[in-house]
Amino acid sequence: MTHALANWKNTRWAADLALDLVAGSKYYKRTEVVQAAQQIADRVIAHLGSNPNWSEIAIVGIDLQWDFAEEGNLAVNGGQRIGALFNEIFRIFKERGVLTVTTQDWHPKGHISFASTHSQAPFTMKTIAYEGCPPKDHTLWPDHCIQRSHGAELMVDTRHVQQQFTKGEEPVESYSIVTNEAGKPASDIVKKLKDQGITTVLIGGLATDYCVQRSAHQLKEAGFNVIFIEDLSAGVAKDTCDAALKAMGEAQITSI
Ligand SMILES: [Zn+2]
Repeated sequence: MTHALANWKNTRWAADLALDLVAGSKYYKRTEVVQAAQQIADRVIAHLGSNPNWSEIAIVGIDLQWDFAEEGNLAVNGGQRIGALFNEIFRIFKERGVLTVTTQDWHPKGHISFASTHSQAPFTMKTIAYEGCPPKDHTLWPDHCIQRSHGAELMVDTRHVQQQFTKGEEPVESYSIVTNEAGKPASDIVKKLKDQGITTVLIGGLATDYCVQRSAHQLKEAGFNVIFIEDLSAGVAKDTCDAALKAMGEAQITSI
């Protein structure tokens, strides 16, 4: 599903974000982030070759939301810095004519992926059988990214973001922005990108080992040239991130 850009200027957390973007936060230094973002951009641009067709490239930041940052409900170490890096990266690439895209986990209260919905402790496993699918073990998460809550809002200045896609509205877990865990479309991102002539997708965000890798695989399967930018991503755990990198490599997803 696509939804209108949030009017971020009118929100309390947007004011906090604006301050962070100017000064940095206790989780990152603004000057370091600006420098690192430029270095990452230079590396990506060098990889793309001498004369890329910028209008065929999209950069997709997966789930750059406050609930996946250090003080969020489903915190990922380094999450705030990834948000700040993307804020710079989006500005740099948008100036070149690259399409800037974000995704958001966007759950109703009482979502099936929440441990509280099943009266269980967060991070326990539960076997869930979605209609038409064989039963599968799922991790139950703390309540996170509830629609219109602070934790669901983006950590980036949406003035640099041209398109937003949401997932997880249905009573089905959805790690990927393409297809949910019941095999149904999670959003119309593939059609929207193809309609605009996008052939290459640069991807990063939160978290490497879940939503980023699942989205990367499915965008690759949908026919895009997918380039995973490791320095623009952070994950939940080292072993699952290592496995994600290996699996992406095996699927011909380039990592830089
Ligand atoms: Zn979720």
